[in-house]
Amino acid sequence: MKKIYLDNNATTPIHPEVLDAMLPYLKDEFGNPSSIHWAGRNTRRGVDDAREKTAKLLNCDASEIIFTSCGSEGNNLAIKGVAESKKDKGNHIITTKVEHPAVLSTCKYLQKTGFDVTYLDVDSEGMLDLDQLKKAITPKTILITIMFANNETGVIFPIEEIGNIAKGHNISLHTDAVQAAGKIPIDVKKMNIDLLTISGHKLYAPKGVGALYVKRGVRLTPLIQGGHQERNRRGGTENVAGIVALGKACEIAQRDMPEEIKHLAALRDRLQKGLMEKIAHVRLNGHPTKRTPNTVNLSFEYAEGESLLLNLDMKGIAASSGSACTSGTLEPSHVLVAMGVPLEASHSSVRFSLGRGNTVEDIDYVIEVMPAMVERMRSMSPLYSTITGKGTDITFAESGSHSH
Ligand SMILES: *Cc1c(COP(=O)(O)O)cnc(C)c1O
Repeated sequence: MKKIYLDNNATTPIHPEVLDAMLPYLKDEFGNPSSIHWAGRNTRRGVDDAREKTAKLLNCDASEIIFTSCGSEGNNLAIKGVAESKKDKGNHIITTKVEHPAVLSTCKYLQKTGFDVTYLDVDSEGMLDLDQLKKAITPKTILITIMFANNETGVIFPIEEIGNIAKGHNISLHTDAVQAAGKIPIDVKKMNIDLLTISGHKLYAPKGVGALYVKRGVRLTPLIQGGHQERNRRGGTENVAGIVALGKACEIAQRDMPEEIKHLAALRDRLQKGLMEKIAHVRLNGHPTKRTPNTVNLSFEYAEGESLLLNLDMKGIAASSGSACTSGTLEPSHVLVAMGVPLEASHSSVRFSLGRGNTVEDIDYVIEVMPAMVERMRSMSPLYSTITGKGTDITFAESGSHSH
């Protein structure tokens, strides 16, 4: 069976060069980076080098990088850390309705401990209204936490403009850039970002490592009390192999980004166009252009999303509906709900998220197998027969024009 992986927003495979870079630290280079002897010095060098590489991808100083265990930890550390350290100044936080659960649940938790949180709306294309953001700011606002790019739709928010607004009001800006890092250019200085989260396993490093950029001067209460690691901001002996891997992944991402953007956007557009041409009643969830190059979220109306995923899986195609964290429940995606996507359409959504390994052949295979699959499922939908008068007629699927 073919194996086609189109779920790179859930996790990515480890890049071979990344694996090569980390392996010595799982074998001979075992020292504790805090030790002063040769064994410690060797691993310390690995961590330092990775810190430089990670900082370079974001355009910050190496001293502004804190290594974490994952994106969720980075988001928790940034939001709780700033909230705690600035609670004498105010108790108001602004975020959006479409954040990753690692941000949303952290904000909900803080609400229970006396913080006020404003959840901004998005429009039908998943985009923010900056006037709504400006109006939400109060003298008590201490933190704005808004994602760089959405994991479900790929929609990219105007972080630089948000950075200017935050700076103008002297409010800290944190952005969850887990879906943006390595995919699109990020410049924390130019964009006025104070804190930014990334995660290794979303950019071809392994699971279990991430980083948080914290601008020099931003005060942060640590989540993990311990030794002096990470300049007293995150106790715990470093995950050296993971950190080395993340550094290498950042270096590769920066090196290959222009090419990868072209490669992925071309495949993504081919997939979107092919499916929309061959299958009727398909809607795009998300912004047509302000999107990460690898992501397309489509609703195949009158077909059930979870069944579509099972059918795709039987053909060897791995995709997802909504985010991995909410799949398995029948709750519609909170992102699509916030966009006002009708319930029926949100239950028929599929997210394809492409990655480095994907080829034109992969995409064409999906375009080849999906029309009949969707039509078969629609033929079982009473609503579909009522609306189209088609029922079990499958000629419909074949009537689309072929573009390739
Ligand atoms: C995956 C993801 C996270 C969580 O990262 P982990 O490393 O899995 O904890 C946070 N935010 C976004 C946007 C993500 O896609």
